[in-house]
Amino acid sequence: MGYPHPSHPLERPLLSRHFGDAGARSFDGWVKRGGYQGLKKALGMTRAQVIEEVTNSGLRGRGGAGFPTGLKWSFMPREVTRPHYLVCNADESEPGTFKDREIIRWTPHQLLEGCVVAAHAIGAERIYIYIRGEFTTEYRILKTAVAEAYHGGVLGANVFGSGQRIDVVVHRGAGAYICGEETAMMNSLEGRRGNPRIKPPFPAQAGLWACPTTVNNVETLAAAAHIVREGAAWHKALCRGNPRSTGTKLFSVCGHVQRPGNYEVVMGTPMKDLIFEMCGGMPMGRRLKAVIPGGSSVPIMNAAEVEDCLLDYEGIVARGSMLGSGGMIVMDDSTDLVYQVMRLARFYAHESCAQCTQCREGTAWTVRILERILAGKGRREDLDLLLDLADNMTGKTICVLSDSCAAPVVSAIRKFPEEFEAYLSRSRAPVTVAV
Ligand code: SF4
Repeated sequence: MGYPHPSHPLERPLLSRHFGDAGARSFDGWVKRGGYQGLKKALGMTRAQVIEEVTNSGLRGRGGAGFPTGLKWSFMPREVTRPHYLVCNADESEPGTFKDREIIRWTPHQLLEGCVVAAHAIGAERIYIYIRGEFTTEYRILKTAVAEAYHGGVLGANVFGSGQRIDVVVHRGAGAYICGEETAMMNSLEGRRGNPRIKPPFPAQAGLWACPTTVNNVETLAAAAHIVREGAAWHKALCRGNPRSTGTKLFSVCGHVQRPGNYEVVMGTPMKDLIFEMCGGMPMGRRLKAVIPGGSSVPIMNAAEVEDCLLDYEGIVARGSMLGSGGMIVMDDSTDLVYQVMRLARFYAHESCAQCTQCREGTAWTVRILERILAGKGRREDLDLLLDLADNMTGKTICVLSDSCAAPVVSAIRKFPEEFEAYLSRSRAPVTVAV
């Protein structure tokens, strides 16, 4: 747990302020650092007031979809006539993304505080934290923090003397990427196979055990308690000119940069500042070739698109991709993009739950065709075939895993045709791909 942390671009980072500070991990340490003040304030507010505060703050889901958090909470029924549930999605499995793990590792009470604030807002008495099974250290840390929170009166039958009951169950996943999809996660929690469900019904109508449920990401929930403590206006002011993207965002930067790691920046920060200043740019003076900015499920950006891209929801869409989870994979000019998209496609083919024909067949055939191109046996029509496959895989399946496989492939073909041409024309030596 003692690895170095990048210097922070914010004078006072919000979510990552105590990363690297082992004293912040315990209940007492968190309280000493101002923790649980947001929860105390929230408990003195009505459910509607908390939801209004979070809505006005402009907070949007940090797990990938970017849906407005307050609006999502407002979908929960006002009257609690049957159990309401909060599910915290800590199944962080998106390639290139490692920020939620860090929040749990250093500040588990930051997450628990946000969870209890959200549970109060949606009228939930039980919170399930679904943590990725491979996060063994973080699981242990979280379990310790939950026990401390019960002891400290944050959880249990009478949260901070409010008379309100809120319990937390920490549930470990078993290694399936698809269980990070909210409806698959609910099936998994119910003891079923982790297959995504068809929507509607949406979780707020019929979620866990057919009861009203809200699913939020770790980073989203961690931000919620800060918002209640400091106020919506404070959070809204944390932006660089775009009122639709407010607050700070953790970006996990990996790949060809000198200082990979988690960086918290204010929404709207230029992408170039993050890659070239904070992360130190490419090693050995190499040039930037491509960036996948939001985990591996979004379109690849080329160097020209990175040039004037702003790191917020709209800024990245305007440059041909999506903010997604904020897992940023940086690739320099030594990268073989055909090989890289084949690796990504293999990942999605392996993780497909296989319910939908377009996904089950499409991901597998995408891999086979890319392997054929890499092996020097590609045909000219293979690119059209890949694009046709991708079209059938996009927007036509139960969940977006299929779209996630298609997006990097389509963008690579459209933005880097010369990479494919080099293999198709046999001017690049074939690559033997290990199975
Ligand atoms: Fe399963 Fe793929 Fe269909 Fe999602 S898109 S439900 S992962 S088969």
